[in-house]
Amino acid sequence: MSGEFDVIARIRARAGTRSDVVLGIGDDAALLTPSPGMQLVVATDTLNCGVHFPAETAPYYIGWKSLAVNLSDLAAMGAQPAWCSLSLSMPQADDAWVDAFIDGFMALASMHGVALIGGDTTRGSLSICVSVIGFVEPGHALKRDGAKAGDDIWVSGTLGDAAAALSLWQSGQAMPAALRERLDRPTPRIALGCALSGIANACIDVSDGLLADLGHICKASGVGAEVDVDSLPASSTFFAFTGEDLETRRHLQAAGGDDYELCFTAPADAGRHVEDAARSSGVAVTRIGRITKAHGVRALLDGDAWQPISVGHEHFSG
Ligand code: ADP
Ligand code: MG
Repeated sequence: MSGEFDVIARIRARAGTRSDVVLGIGDDAALLTPSPGMQLVVATDTLNCGVHFPAETAPYYIGWKSLAVNLSDLAAMGAQPAWCSLSLSMPQADDAWVDAFIDGFMALASMHGVALIGGDTTRGSLSICVSVIGFVEPGHALKRDGAKAGDDIWVSGTLGDAAAALSLWQSGQAMPAALRERLDRPTPRIALGCALSGIANACIDVSDGLLADLGHICKASGVGAEVDVDSLPASSTFFAFTGEDLETRRHLQAAGGDDYELCFTAPADAGRHVEDAARSSGVAVTRIGRITKAHGVRALLDGDAWQPISVGHEHFSG
């Protein structure tokens, strides 16, 4: 057990370096040199114990996930990440916990060349607030408001894995490792987001559920969407888990959250460019529907309307 300043010293020793960090952890604030001519892209996300991750989650995964959900927001903007800050509230200063947390956090940070440039450390219930800062060329950010009627709708990777893991955890059942990995250690689609800049018209990361998040694109863009529910990409572990239960499969894929894939729209004649972007960034993409003039998100099954039990997760609802 150690005090606040020991915790900060342990974190500081692991923070990583970049030539554009003039002054990192240790002073009253950090000093950074932005890349000339680039726009800064900034995102913040908080993870509360028991809300955003089960209390028994290993600290390595809490560290990884608290950065991953933030990097996912930069990916959805088509931005290249550079720096992050970490506000850590925890009930006690447990060295082993902090070390494992930072192991997970920095494993992902170093994969993307992100330096930890500051933060705050306080006593309280376990809560982690991370901010990330990245760069995008002016005019190249992927926003939610650019979808146009006639655009194809695409999604990266596979959907439903994290929601399947969560439902197993909530009912006290064992989780297959491949599903659990998707819940504990999501992969932010940074390379894909950057490659889609200049190709996609609109983009969002799928954190609350596909239909809910696609709904945000539609609302911001003043359009609607039709999604073919049975075209949603699934992993083989997820297929094995849902088996013959097609309705559970559809609900987990269409409305389950926490996958952190990218959902984006692109002009119908840009399909080849989308496939090239996917190939160059090493992640599969699947066409799942079409943007429509008529408002609202419609889920379709063989052309007929299909109704999910809920569209996605929302805090303070119900
Ligand atoms: P102040 O009282 O001026 O806010 P702190 O004692 O909170 O200073 O922080 C000292 C330094 O350590 C600052 O540079 C701050 O950014 C950094 N820091 C504090 N907590 C963390 C943390 N959890 N992760 C990274 N840097 C931190
Ligand atoms: Mg402080």
